[in-house]
Amino acid sequence: MSATSQLDPTARFLMGPGPSDVHPRVLKAMATPLIGHLDPQFIAIMDDVMDMLRRLLQTKNEVTFPVSATGSAGMETCFVNLLEPGDEALVCVNGVFGNRMCDNVERGGAKLVRLDAPWGSIIEPAEVKKTLEGCSPKLVAIVHAETSTGVLQPLEEISKIVHDAGALLLVDTVTSLGGTEILVDEWGIDAVYSGTQKCISAPPGLSPVSFGPAAVEAMDKRKTRVQSWYLDLSMVRKYWAGAKRAYHHTAPISMVYALYEALSLIFEEGLEARFARHRRNHELLRQGLEELGFEFLVPSEYRLPMLNAVKIPAGVDDAAVRRRLLDEYNIEIGGGLGDFSGKVWRIGLMGCSCTQNHVNMLLAALRTIMKM
Ligand SMILES: *Cc1c(COP(=O)(O)O)cnc(C)c1O
Repeated sequence: MSATSQLDPTARFLMGPGPSDVHPRVLKAMATPLIGHLDPQFIAIMDDVMDMLRRLLQTKNEVTFPVSATGSAGMETCFVNLLEPGDEALVCVNGVFGNRMCDNVERGGAKLVRLDAPWGSIIEPAEVKKTLEGCSPKLVAIVHAETSTGVLQPLEEISKIVHDAGALLLVDTVTSLGGTEILVDEWGIDAVYSGTQKCISAPPGLSPVSFGPAAVEAMDKRKTRVQSWYLDLSMVRKYWAGAKRAYHHTAPISMVYALYEALSLIFEEGLEARFARHRRNHELLRQGLEELGFEFLVPSEYRLPMLNAVKIPAGVDDAAVRRRLLDEYNIEIGGGLGDFSGKVWRIGLMGCSCTQNHVNMLLAALRTIMKM
């Protein structure tokens, strides 16, 4: 490719762990002419985005807005603002993203307590309870939808246990938000972060976060400054939600347009209809994959509809089949991470990538490649 050739990658069907396919209306929104990030019209758009995020997260939390970076920055925002050096945090680990949370705790100088469960299993509430008898953390962190394993973590019982122990509950909803129900207020989640490129079906680049009253109080009571200038919510909050919107950093305007349009599409479809679509297409994919000899990694009651982790049948060459899916069919699926590398595929049905056509296309391609 010469330096002067136009950017023109082949169109793909994105059926991996994210990013997912983006609706043409979202792409068009990104081509909307820029206005200033302090223009009253842009401030009104920011207000609408915050309102829509509250509706999606089913929360009244005032501090609800998108951090200007991907999901991992949302994760980091939560840890750097809620923890101070020397605080204790319990992190539940049953996959890659629990491990990433542990890294965040340690880098911030907080004291880490880990609760590990086998990859592909949920975190059992009784184990959380037992662990909390031996420590008194300021917060407990857990992943709602573990994208590395395909596990959907039930949260209500754990939320009660965490609050009985006087801790805050922090939840990663990067893969679940927009694809399955999340009731932030009803479930008592104190802090939550997500990402735009999974079931919200916008490009990667923003990370919605939301903080309830107890989390806001913990931030207001800090004795030390947040070590990250960029992610310090005491300043960022003033730009997104302060009475006088003051410059902190230049908001990624086109990404905010994209999120606005993607959220509008979600509410045009309706939350119930959207979640039902994710369950329906997951079921269609499950039937087809089982006919082809695939087995799911996770027991049916804890399976994510939007991230299907299946064991690769014996005799199937992981890399070769995924390469053919990409080269011959323009379909991207995800390989396994960590211990599951070479053993598991991760098939995403997220947002705009969650259609009957996507499922049928993938199954037909696999039948041909696997000669069945
Ligand atoms: C993708 C993902 C992240 C990280 O988000 P990035 O946008 O890649 O930074 C965090 N947690 C979970 C569960 C994810 O699936």
